Amino acid sequence: LPAQVEVDHTFKILLVGDSGVGKSSLLLRFATGGFEELVPTIGVDFKAKIIELGGKRIRLTVWDTAGQERFRTLTSSYYRGAQGIILVYDVSRAETFDSLADIWLREVDMYGTVEESVKMVVANKTDLAETREVSTDMGVAFARAHGCLFVETSAKGNVAVEQAFEELVHKILETP
Ligand code: GDP
Repeated sequence: LPAQVEVDHTFKILLVGDSGVGKSSLLLRFATGGFEELVPTIGVDFKAKIIELGGKRIRLTVWDTAGQERFRTLTSSYYRGAQGIILVYDVSRAETFDSLADIWLREVDMYGTVEESVKMVVANKTDLAETREVSTDMGVAFARAHGCLFVETSAKGNVAVEQAFEELVHKILETP
């Protein structure tokens, strides 16, 4: 990580959501442009990337729960100081969508710096059209009801991953 590079902002971004929805894959895709079958790891992991947006240079540190979510042991320290929170579900598994309301949004609101962080719902695995269980309309409605941005992605197909992060950062920049 080129820590010596001067940046205008540094933003902490979190990925949350059920195990297997594609958090690590989104992070890998965003950070390195790659996609690989991932071996689940335990412990919190983050990757950093410098992007240019709106004439500003921004260092993003993107945090992934890396398996901790299976034990429901994310703590307040994981959420502390996050400017952006990405709530991820898998469009081919409805229960991961239900978990956003039942678990993840509640935890974000409990621990997160709610007022200051921008929230985004990411509907991942849109390439699995044949086995899709959650419609775009359902995702949009949920995101709107909870004041979140909404983007549909495929980490596997490299669809809209970059766009999701950029939209989030854009919103963070315009949030006072
Ligand atoms: P995490 O537990 O939320 O970090 O999920 P992972 O990133 O480990 O992904 C879980 C599984 O879903 C892995 O086998 C990935 O290869 C796969 N996966 C992730 N994103 C996509 C996607 O957009 N489409 C498809 N078809 N599979 C994906």
